[in-house]
Amino acid sequence: MKNHLTDISNVLVIGCGGAGLRAAIEVKKNDLNVKIIGKRRKNDAHTVLAAGGINAAFGNIDKDDNWLQHFADTYLEGYGLGNPEIIEIMAKESPKLVKEIDSWGANLEKLKNGKLDQRFFGAHTYRRTCYSGDFTGQSIIQALLKRIKLLNIPIYDSQYVTDLLINDNTCFGAMSINTKNGERTVHLADSVILCTGGHTKIWFQSSSRKLENYGDGYDLALKAGCDLIDMEMVQFHPTGMIKPDDFAGTLVTEAVRGEGGKLFNVNGERFMQNYDKKRMELSTRDKVAIANYTEIIEGRSSPNGGVFLDISHKPKDFILNKIPKIYRQFIESQMLDISQKPMEVAPTAHYSMGGILVDSYNHSTSVKGLFAAGEVAGGLHGANRLGGNSLAEILVFGKLSGIAASSYSIKLKAQIRSQMAIKKIHENINKFIKNGEELVIALQNELSKVMWEKCGVIKNEEKLKLALEKIDEIEKRAYCVDIRISDNNFQDLIKLFDLNSSIKTAKATLLSAIERKESRGAHQRSDYPFLKASESCSYLIKEKEGLLQISRKDCIGLNSDLRKQIDQTVKINDFKNRLLE
Ligand SMILES: Cc1cc2nc3c(=O)[nH]c(=O)nc-3n(C[C@H](O)[C@H](O)[C@H](O)COP(=O)(O)OP(=O)(O)OC[C@H]3O[C@@H](n4cnc5c(N)ncnc54)[C@H](O)[C@@H]3O)c2cc1C
Repeated sequence: MKNHLTDISNVLVIGCGGAGLRAAIEVKKNDLNVKIIGKRRKNDAHTVLAAGGINAAFGNIDKDDNWLQHFADTYLEGYGLGNPEIIEIMAKESPKLVKEIDSWGANLEKLKNGKLDQRFFGAHTYRRTCYSGDFTGQSIIQALLKRIKLLNIPIYDSQYVTDLLINDNTCFGAMSINTKNGERTVHLADSVILCTGGHTKIWFQSSSRKLENYGDGYDLALKAGCDLIDMEMVQFHPTGMIKPDDFAGTLVTEAVRGEGGKLFNVNGERFMQNYDKKRMELSTRDKVAIANYTEIIEGRSSPNGGVFLDISHKPKDFILNKIPKIYRQFIESQMLDISQKPMEVAPTAHYSMGGILVDSYNHSTSVKGLFAAGEVAGGLHGANRLGGNSLAEILVFGKLSGIAASSYSIKLKAQIRSQMAIKKIHENINKFIKNGEELVIALQNELSKVMWEKCGVIKNEEKLKLALEKIDEIEKRAYCVDIRISDNNFQDLIKLFDLNSSIKTAKATLLSAIERKESRGAHQRSDYPFLKASESCSYLIKEKEGLLQISRKDCIGLNSDLRKQIDQTVKINDFKNRLLE
């Protein structure tokens, strides 16, 4: 009996976010047959949430800006763990790609002279961030989709990829399940580009959207034989909503602090004076996240487990003018008028700096025919991400991976296709469909609470090891989940795949976090509070016979020009007017 549909393309792109769309456009330019598949609606990938902007060192306003300074700012913000080769490519290429996306209709803000406007963002030395209102991600996706339509590139959404097709360390496609009717498709391809985003949804407080960012791509890559790098490096944004449950983690823009918002604990203390007396609420994202988390964990939290963020001392007109979206967000979700009362906020998992280990130049992986780009790939950000760099990353490396996957396809002499591998994947999916005593959603919730409580902004060995034990228990219970499928219900099966990806990526994150015995960038350990020169390395995770293994990888050194630029860079201390998303 035929148990799947078959579809063939030269290059298969998995993921309809900015990286996936940009990669597919490049493949099509090479006159190849390319197809994009994604698990959600095509115009609704995570990228649409990006607000603040995209970095490109044009120097349109601050004439001294150039790619070298963009390099230095990125490398320094990554605390020396970022791959200098990847950073250099991003810094050099992003101006071209930003101009291109604007010419495709992203409608970025212009200066009177017609050049792109640029604003400050976080720890940038100069105004470098191009933007389109506070919906830059949405504008980029719309421009890319217009281009995709023009080039006639097919997008199949509602396709959940469960496995990559692998034979003899070579990728020859992917298996997907249609989330609407459960139909399986074997997508045969010469090469595959993974653009599946990060894993921040595995934390209870997460700025991710629903049903995305469970680390699917990391799990697919581990199963295929790839390494993951820097998985302990997860960026927490200091202010996310905490209620109602449906909104937990949703970002409260940093602009609230930028416009004068003050932070208080339950005792009415303006606690930032204990963490950064000089900059107070205008301190860096990581410092404010640490402060908020400490106040909560040490028992000085607001009634719902957060801290108070208050801007009610400002006139209502000022609030409506400066932060209208946030005003609406609280009215709509909590009926709270922030011009009258403070908000309750807590840190929220925001961005995965780590990811699949890729070649610096073409983003190929250690599996032949498999490429990765965007948030799913590791290397660019090191221990912390400079705001605005991820949108630059998805365009630059979307394009470069598209070129490389095309070239791989064109040079391929013969395709390896293994019926055995496909049969095994079917068996693996089928084994999940059985009666059981556990509920998939309950386990997913437990997992996200474990990660939030034990692997949050500040970690220690005891908590991390406890978390690992708890995730192991959840993994055992996940074998007993009740999965029944019918003509109109495949959701539990899909959610089980999300859970399995969450389990695997949680373990990868915990193992790496235990191994890194220091505090650096986004990785903060109360038992090792200082940065150690001996830890200037990355940790890699690989899966062997179902077990995750960790190893150490030395960082790539800097050449003398880059070192000189780093040495000349002055650390930014004043974050006024730089706080965006
Ligand atoms: C609130 C918010 C604001 C942000 N603001 C900025 C900003 O101003 N500037 C900036 O540079 N960055 C910003 N970021 C980060 C940036 O938006 C992301 O890093 C970037 O958009 C990631 O793009 P991507 O293409 O790699 O992945 P995504 O956009 O996450 O796309 C991944 C795609 O893969 C699909 N997928 C995943 N798993 C599967 C599967 N198993 N099967 C099939 N499909 C799958 C998903 O459905 C999705 O279509 C922000 C992030 C957030 C959350």
